[in-house]
Amino acid sequence: MLEIRDIHVYYGDMQALRGISMEVRQGEVVALVGANGAGKTTTLRTVSGLLRPKQGEVWFEGKPIHELPPHQIADLGISHVPEGRGLFPMMTVEENLLLGAHLPRVRAQRRQMLTQEIYPLFPRLKERAGQLAGTLSGGEQQMVAIARGLMSRPKLLILDEPSLGLAPVIVQEMFNIIRRVREEQGVTVMIVEQNVMQTLQLADRAYVVENGEVVLSGDSRTLLDDEHMKRAYLGM
Ligand code: ATP
Repeated sequence: MLEIRDIHVYYGDMQALRGISMEVRQGEVVALVGANGAGKTTTLRTVSGLLRPKQGEVWFEGKPIHELPPHQIADLGISHVPEGRGLFPMMTVEENLLLGAHLPRVRAQRRQMLTQEIYPLFPRLKERAGQLAGTLSGGEQQMVAIARGLMSRPKLLILDEPSLGLAPVIVQEMFNIIRRVREEQGVTVMIVEQNVMQTLQLADRAYVVENGEVVLSGDSRTLLDDEHMKRAYLGM
């Protein structure tokens, strides 16, 4: 479904990605793990068109997308939920959710989408529909961000550190939601996470990024047993 081929990405003169290649197949949950500053967010931003690779290509469903603007990439079915959520705090939960369905492809069905798919999956957001987003707890705000990302009916949902700043019980709830999103909505997921143990339990496969390069990849079970993973990321 998604193929990242040897991308090199710079911020000015600073090279952030040094030839990253990855693949996400339809129906998978694929994780990117690695230390702060390794290049995970940069990889996601390149996929959704917010950054351009100086070298390399990104292909989605058999077409190159690395030269398209972000709104066209979104329209192809890639929805990016950025780190830090990006909600409008002075708008209600429901208004924030409806903004997720601004693309022409989904706009007409947005009410139906909300009541038939989003609220059943996120009952707490239905209860809070009329409340200002800025008054929700961190975990609830993260749920709004994920739900808003789903409102465009994406084929590929990209999540950047959804558990950041959340209490452990809430993190568990959030991972359960992601599991259900994949199972019930058939959405393919690409996720960046610091919570490596829980992420490997959720993901089918993972890529380990260090200094702008993929240093290790494989199916999650194998990575959970890998000596480098255990020492560097699993605290064993
Ligand atoms: P984090 O978990 O902290 O987001 P990351 O693995 O996602 O880490 P990136 O945010 O992709 O890492 O950063 C990769 C490199 O690019 C780092 O060295 C970082 O300092 C640098 N970088 C990221 N954003 C910018 C920017 N806007 N301008 C300049 N350098 C940046």
